Amino acid sequence: MAFAALNKMVSSSNLFQHQYGYNSTLINTITPKSLHAPFYHLTDPQLIAIASSKTFNLLCPIVVYWLICTLWHHLDTAKYPYFEKRRIHESPEIIARNKVSFSEVIKAVFFQHCIQIVLGWLWFEDTDVILKTQFYTDHITKMSDLAPWVADGTLLVLGRRTGEQVLYKYGEKLVAWIYWWGIPLVQMYFAFWVTDTWQYFWHRAMHNNRFLYRHFHSHHHRLYVSFAFGALYNHPVEGFILDSLGSAVAEKMAFMTMRQATLLFTISSIKTADDHCGYKLWWDPCQLLFANNADYHDIHHQAYGIKSNFSQPYFTNWDKILGTQMSREEADSKTRWKKLGHEYAEHDKHNVISESHAKKVD
Ligand SMILES: [Zn+2]
Ligand SMILES: [Zn+2]
Repeated sequence: MAFAALNKMVSSSNLFQHQYGYNSTLINTITPKSLHAPFYHLTDPQLIAIASSKTFNLLCPIVVYWLICTLWHHLDTAKYPYFEKRRIHESPEIIARNKVSFSEVIKAVFFQHCIQIVLGWLWFEDTDVILKTQFYTDHITKMSDLAPWVADGTLLVLGRRTGEQVLYKYGEKLVAWIYWWGIPLVQMYFAFWVTDTWQYFWHRAMHNNRFLYRHFHSHHHRLYVSFAFGALYNHPVEGFILDSLGSAVAEKMAFMTMRQATLLFTISSIKTADDHCGYKLWWDPCQLLFANNADYHDIHHQAYGIKSNFSQPYFTNWDKILGTQMSREEADSKTRWKKLGHEYAEHDKHNVISESHAKKVD
């Protein structure tokens, strides 16, 4: 847990003394005596019979990506009226405008995942180390380390009188909730933020630097009308820097356990596929919960939006702060302008540069 690392760092430096630490009766009352384990706390170190913890961590995001993209692909080809009405672009546009075929995308994604497995195998600790450091840990002791922090925080916010009343009544449950839910949720949110920050600045650099764009990022922009499988259609160098390295930095900075990392990587896989799915679906959790969604990222794939909406995959903060955001209304006004006779002029100019170079690279 991130808390353990923080606690060790702070207490060893003697920077902070628990203000109310002397009240041993209070601390004793709120220290959990049992695990209070939530549903997700599984003591079985091997979730599925055929894969160790490390293998499961590596394969889960990849298997989920292929399953979810296959589902999106089925919707693309089955042409159900409900989904047809909610396409961001008309279906024939996929064939007409994209500069790469579906089979080439599939091959590139497969290759990208092979690289990801090799890198992940080298990066993550072996299963026996994970078991020792993460599974067979003393959660009660960790919660007792957390208790004085919870006491301090509660008394600071609520004042001594009310704070003590609340702590004597609900303190134990509060400590257990913060340990099992509060801290992991903050870690996940923080990991999202790190991923976004990493990806925003690298993504923007790949557009601003001609060398990076021509050699690497232009591959992804061969898709003007994206579809789910195309989410990971990248040059391997970009796949390594933005996706693999970005995820590794996020999980390390958030002090995640292997299972937390598995969840983070799986959510990232689902989210990035959804961002390229090509449908506007209000009930889709990835589109309902995040302003950075399929419609938002689609703008970036168009010629008029290629210098906007760099943020991915979760939030739109960096676009907002640094003035690179383009709303759907602005995008629509650009489309209307194009229809007056400037059809894809900017796009073609951009495309000539990137494609002529891509041919040389290929
Ligand atoms: Zn881009
Ligand atoms: Zn994209």
